Amino acid sequence: MEKVLPIILLAGADKNTQDDFKNIVKDKYSIMSADNEYECFNILTNHKIELVIVALNVQIMDGLDFLKNLAQDSRYKNIPILAIVTYGDLDSVSLAMELGATEFITTPFSEIIINCRIRNVIAHSQQAEKDKRISEMNRYIEIDSLTGLYNRETFYEKAAKLIHDNPEVQYCIVYLDISCFKVVNDLFHTETGNLILKTAASYFLKKINPQVGVSGRIEADHFVLCVPQDTLDMDRLIKEIDDTIRTLGISHNILFFAGVYPVIDMNLPVDQMCDRASMALNKIKGNYARRYNFYDVGMRERMLKEQMIVRDMEFALKDNQFTIFLQPIYRPETNEIVSAEALVRWFHPESGMISPGYFIPVFERNGFIVKLDRFVWETVCKFLRSRLDAGKKIVPVSVNVSRLNFYSYDLLIFLLNLLKKYDLEPWMLKLEVTESAYTDNPQQLIKIINQFKENGFPILMDDFGSGYSSLNMLKNIDIDVLKVDMAFVREIEHSERARTILLMIIGLARELGMGVVTEGVETQTQLDYITNMGSVDIQGYYFSKPLAVKDFVALFDKYDSLATQV
Ligand code: C2E
Ligand code: CA
Ligand code: CA
Repeated sequence: MEKVLPIILLAGADKNTQDDFKNIVKDKYSIMSADNEYECFNILTNHKIELVIVALNVQIMDGLDFLKNLAQDSRYKNIPILAIVTYGDLDSVSLAMELGATEFITTPFSEIIINCRIRNVIAHSQQAEKDKRISEMNRYIEIDSLTGLYNRETFYEKAAKLIHDNPEVQYCIVYLDISCFKVVNDLFHTETGNLILKTAASYFLKKINPQVGVSGRIEADHFVLCVPQDTLDMDRLIKEIDDTIRTLGISHNILFFAGVYPVIDMNLPVDQMCDRASMALNKIKGNYARRYNFYDVGMRERMLKEQMIVRDMEFALKDNQFTIFLQPIYRPETNEIVSAEALVRWFHPESGMISPGYFIPVFERNGFIVKLDRFVWETVCKFLRSRLDAGKKIVPVSVNVSRLNFYSYDLLIFLLNLLKKYDLEPWMLKLEVTESAYTDNPQQLIKIINQFKENGFPILMDDFGSGYSSLNMLKNIDIDVLKVDMAFVREIEHSERARTILLMIIGLARELGMGVVTEGVETQTQLDYITNMGSVDIQGYYFSKPLAVKDFVALFDKYDSLATQV
């Protein structure tokens, strides 16, 4: 049987071009030529054309006009178009591309280029067509196969219908997420993760009457509900879902968190309503005391501010808008400043000083933190070098190493190069690591921290006790100093429990040969409690706030001269 070749429509080519062209593509394609627009459309209507090639190198017909009319006809919008132009005729290339040509080829023809380009253009368009079909098909598959809930697209559709069909009802979009689901999946394997998702889904299916509300799973462990506000009792919902999951008897504490968007603006597309609910949820992520949060208008403003931060960050770094402040770390026993922590500050030309509490989380989300941290480390090294050059005393300065850094293959090399460049020793630069880095990827962190240690860098564990895996991390990693989370100090006067834990931490540290820094000491009473518990260093407003470098130097030199007088 004769093979059916894909058909190419060759429009407006002169005899020579046609012959050259046919010669090149020979047995791979069948060519249909036409030299006026009417004929072209006639062929397009009556044959399955895979590719249209329009000759703009000769004036047989108005090829550009044909391109324009072809682009306007939606029946042919999926057929790729190649333009033939004379080599160097860039004007025709740009006009043709503007009018909808996919690619171009130049005369005189090169056999290899033409065959390659035709193949690529056709393959690309077939792939695009396939992708479109798949996504259309997915739309028809309404149900998420794992949980039996509506999938994302269907949820959007059903929720939109519900909201619009019942304008008198005040609806809420609830966006739910399981804390540390990734960890649960890793610890207990995917089947357990799946079981949790299915159990949660069956709870939602039972809980939500399909006449009045809809539920869906929009990705991984993210569930969404659309329910009338007067049927929504968030405390109860969270409690019931927790209880349901607890019946599975999984040893890890599985908690649901939620963000709620009361549908104020009915005309907002449902995906954006979900974004707002998710935004409300993000505000309480990592804060285990609050399990759900309602969206408020201020959030949108904050989001816009966040966009400003992202827009300006690269320029700000080049423009030296970032600087470091140094907060002294003080040893009450000897009345000395024994160290300092470098904390970044952003002096924005319009917004003034922006607090790191504001922009660091944004940078941690978009990855810019890696650049900024490196800038801070280098600034610290420069500072230390300038002190040494001036023949002044120094204390080690600690820097924050945000968790994203541990994904950079050249982290250690970068730090070692800094030491070399500024001729410093590793004890002078202490590295503060938080346990979130450990939760992300324990094996990787252990490996890198060991390398740091081998190279002589002191390691501090920041915000110790604020999360879940602090003790785990301690068991597996050789830490030099624990920085006790501020929350303990804040509670110290009122909570027996906080005092007991703090005492235990100090005892534990001593036994393991680690130092302790308590953060956030603000009052004499707090200081008294702490100094009675053992020998610890303190970092807090009581002794000093973070200071501009020159103010730090002044304070440091004052204490140093006091010490030398004794
Ligand atoms: P952190 O590393 O736990 O730093 C200590 C924070 O506590 C600093 O806030 C400091 O000003 C504040 N602080 C110190 N003493 C007291 C006190 O007595 N009372 C109170 N209420 N606060 C006190 P800051 O400078 O606003 O930094 C906040 C967080 O931003 C830091 O927490 C750290 O996580 C992050 N950060 C700051 N600079 C950098 C940096 O260069 N790189 C990275 N990755 N993160 C940074
Ligand atoms: Ca820190
Ligand atoms: Ca800290």
